[in-house]
Amino acid sequence: MADQFDETKENEKEENVSSEKAEEEYEKICFVCRRPESRAGKMITMPGNITICQDCMQKAFDSFEQGGSPYGLNINGTGNGQQGGFDLSALSNLPGVGFINLADLGNGEREIPKKQKLKKKKEKKEQQPFDRRAIPAPHQIKKMLDEYVVGQDQAKKAISVAVYNHYKRVGSDSGDGVEIEKSNMLLLGPTGSGKTYLVKTLARLLDVPLAIADATSLTEAGYIGDDIESVVSKLLQAAGNDVDKAERGIIYIDEIDKIAKKRNTNTRDVSGESVQQELLKMLEGSEVEVPVGSNSKNAMVPMTTVNTNNILFICGGAFPELEEIIKERLTKESSIGFRAELRDKYDKEENLLCKAETEDLKKFGMIPEFLGRLPILVSLEALTKEFMIRILKEPKNAILRQYEKLLQMDEVQLVFEEEALESIAEKAMERHTGARALRAILEEYMLDIMYEIPKDDNIGRVTITKAYIEKNGGPIIDMRGVMRLGVQA
Ligand code: ADP
Repeated sequence: MADQFDETKENEKEENVSSEKAEEEYEKICFVCRRPESRAGKMITMPGNITICQDCMQKAFDSFEQGGSPYGLNINGTGNGQQGGFDLSALSNLPGVGFINLADLGNGEREIPKKQKLKKKKEKKEQQPFDRRAIPAPHQIKKMLDEYVVGQDQAKKAISVAVYNHYKRVGSDSGDGVEIEKSNMLLLGPTGSGKTYLVKTLARLLDVPLAIADATSLTEAGYIGDDIESVVSKLLQAAGNDVDKAERGIIYIDEIDKIAKKRNTNTRDVSGESVQQELLKMLEGSEVEVPVGSNSKNAMVPMTTVNTNNILFICGGAFPELEEIIKERLTKESSIGFRAELRDKYDKEENLLCKAETEDLKKFGMIPEFLGRLPILVSLEALTKEFMIRILKEPKNAILRQYEKLLQMDEVQLVFEEEALESIAEKAMERHTGARALRAILEEYMLDIMYEIPKDDNIGRVTITKAYIEKNGGPIIDMRGVMRLGVQA
């Protein structure tokens, strides 16, 4: 009996050791002010796994004393994780700390959810210096991007160099007084030209955390909408609450053209110019206090500080009216002397955005300080019909390849006639939503195929024809037996 008791105790001990090890990875958080141990200092552990920082404990006792406490307790010297020899039940009567009901918390099972726990920052000596050699050279980054992103060569080149330089900057020390400036980027390109896709692919290939935010949802702090810091909070979540990792991540802010200065407005511009103003500090590098595991700050969410100095910011937008501004400038520049001939010279130009300059963006409504913090201007080309067909076929995970793979699983071969692809591309062009329309259109046509084909085991090949896409015919279906006959003949 005694042996059995000893064994159970031994097992319990082992379990405790392994769970303690797992817990060691995470910091303790003060139950009152929600600060982690790295910021609030050593925690005092109380029964029921409740941890309270010394500041909060001191405050509790101060107010206790002010209330005329007969005990006159001082907690100095109790930071050893023990109770320090005072009666804890007295705490629940403290004025000012009534909101923590210790009796409720003290069942030993109340725990902070894991998503709100913070990974411990590594000790300085343990911290691995950032190895920039792990970041591939620009030509290698571009080569990797080539596999997924069709065309946009100039943009891919510019991004590869900017990213490479950015991570060189992260890994450099400024001891010699030469400090490399941040390579934050501004991507200009029509809707669906692949701005988000390019950034997503980049982050995946480099294995760095990425947060994507929409500038339209951002408002000045204190107004309805997300405040700017929520973007950093998202990045922290993407990095699995690892502050070190988040501090080297990428933040992409889409629809940045929507926060241009509003013209002719008398009301306070809480979602335009003020958002640009608030973004300034973050783009340059500042300490941002963010909630852990949540997008909103409230009393129950622990907070941490993230330094944005080494975070790469990429902003993107379609800037629809910018083309007019560029056209105006170009016409003015080249019109001296022979104005009449040149007036409509740029009307047919497709990729005017590639000629954008900071001056044009200022005219558009972006404030100079904001543009100054996005020194790299990258333009993406508008998608042509030929471009669309390539996007359908060429990327490593091209939409056509995905459908082919799905049907292959049913041992059915899927073939697209070249003319059918042209027809799909034309339809996509009509929607004016860029390459995004391709998937929507294909899904429409493939629905019936994906539904009908598995019904009949004898089907061996399906050919999507132009007639099927133009709704005046059907796909060509080949049966297995017939195919085999064809091969034998
Ligand atoms: P944007 O952010 O410019 O509005 P997206 O990046 O969301 O556009 O593009 C929409 C979709 O179009 C992407 O998910 C991607 O599949 C496809 N796409 C766009 N451009 C390309 C490209 N150059 N190569 C491959 N796919 C592309």
